[in-house]
Amino acid sequence: MQPAPPPSDDMFAGAVLDGSYARLPDNFHARVEPTPVKQPSLVRLNGRLAATLGLDAEALASGEGVEMMAGNRRAGRPIAMAYAGHQFANWVPQLGDGRALLLGEIIDRDNRRRDIQLKGSGPTPFSRGGDGRSSIGPVVREYLASEAMAALGIPTTRALAAIATGEEVMRRQPEPGGILVRVADSHVRIGTFEYFARNGDPESVRLLADYIIERHYPQLADSDQPALDFFAAVIERTALLVAEWMRVGFIHGVMNTDNTSVVGETIDFGPFGWMDEFHPATVYSSIDRRGRYAFNQQPAIAHWNLARLGECLLHLFDVSGEAALEKANATLGTFQERFERHFHAVLRAKLGLAEARDGDIELAEALLSIMTDQRADMTLTFRRLGELDRTDTAGDGPVRELFDDPTAFDAWAAQWRQRLGTESRTESARRKAMRRVNPAFVLRNHLAQQAVDAAIERLDFEPMHRLVDILARPYDDQPGQAHFASPPRPEQRVLKTFCGT
Ligand code: AMP
Ligand code: MG
Repeated sequence: MQPAPPPSDDMFAGAVLDGSYARLPDNFHARVEPTPVKQPSLVRLNGRLAATLGLDAEALASGEGVEMMAGNRRAGRPIAMAYAGHQFANWVPQLGDGRALLLGEIIDRDNRRRDIQLKGSGPTPFSRGGDGRSSIGPVVREYLASEAMAALGIPTTRALAAIATGEEVMRRQPEPGGILVRVADSHVRIGTFEYFARNGDPESVRLLADYIIERHYPQLADSDQPALDFFAAVIERTALLVAEWMRVGFIHGVMNTDNTSVVGETIDFGPFGWMDEFHPATVYSSIDRRGRYAFNQQPAIAHWNLARLGECLLHLFDVSGEAALEKANATLGTFQERFERHFHAVLRAKLGLAEARDGDIELAEALLSIMTDQRADMTLTFRRLGELDRTDTAGDGPVRELFDDPTAFDAWAAQWRQRLGTESRTESARRKAMRRVNPAFVLRNHLAQQAVDAAIERLDFEPMHRLVDILARPYDDQPGQAHFASPPRPEQRVLKTFCGT
């Protein structure tokens, strides 16, 4: 007998919306319908992502599709996920999706189960007094950032569509409302584990771990210590993620445990920033007054967050509390080594070194230190470094001009050239490899700000569209777009970034 076709509200642009997370017990989520909006319109649809998800882009862009993505038309079995978290190291026992709803999951072209979430779709039991809505500004910011991140090759949640709601939301002033349709491998955060563990529900922790392992770490199912291996796997993915952020000068800005994925994706783009001038202590977030989440603090904070995850899983590591703690600490203790392995690989790659030699990391740090002293632009310095000749210094001008005192760079470059001389790969291979790790285009803060301002002030999405297209090819030179590779002029500089929810 053929199985009955699913009812129509389980369809999402040609794909079946399943609800594996919705089938977990009631305390994992709240069932909530999105609150309809007045006059939804499509700002941008990510056609390429739709295709990889096996979705019908035309159906999504249709009136019905837009109604569905705006929450005006039923799709799936929407739930608000429950979670808690440490915000700036303070324990908050209940957070949860206060302005987002998980519609369900679809199976993409690669047979991966992906979450479809509406962000800005109305209040939920977790809204804690918030309006459950989003301004179009942060929708544009998250769309830009997540797609830029994906194009850089860094794990991240994705933007399937941006919708304008035709309503106003009240922020510091009234602003047009928006909804982001977000796609993720998972929306489970370290804070989801904390919600159960710290609220005295170890059985739910076990269920959640089983769910995550089965869905995201299936290779661990046969392990004789799956929970411990899962912990190690999250440590590994997080270490890699942070090293990758640092490769491109990204500062997440709010690495609270509720904004830290258990599958190693960048999630919850709030007051993030991309560095222009290199300085390791750079902070943009207006709410991060003490620099807890500064650029160079990110590995230590990831480590701290992972320790919170380990605490949640202790009872799954061993029946003996003492043995469990020992295992947790031994596994957590691998973070630093894992991070350094990834970060050192990043530093070597950024300098064009294919082989590993003693002194490489010191060489990289020496350059970063000169860049710090002289406020050299991070993206331009590395991109242009890749174009320099191994022996001839006549073409060094484009890098030298980034330094106030170029002689410091000259001295460093002499050492670098000496080191390059010991490499066996060809010059053209070295240059090509450098272009693949040192992007020409990142989402500089002033560019994001221009796109956000145009959207909020005039519902003008042209700057956003232009940027999305440029940032889709961050490693290509795109000669006509050199302007978007440049640092801000003094009056364009953005010193603070906001959640602006
Ligand atoms: P965030 O700092 O954006 O990661 O959000 C932290 C918490 O605040 C989460 O539980 C969000 O769901 C909630 N939140 C943020 N903005 C709103 C809003 N406008 N309405 C309701 N809840 C919100
Ligand atoms: Mg969050």
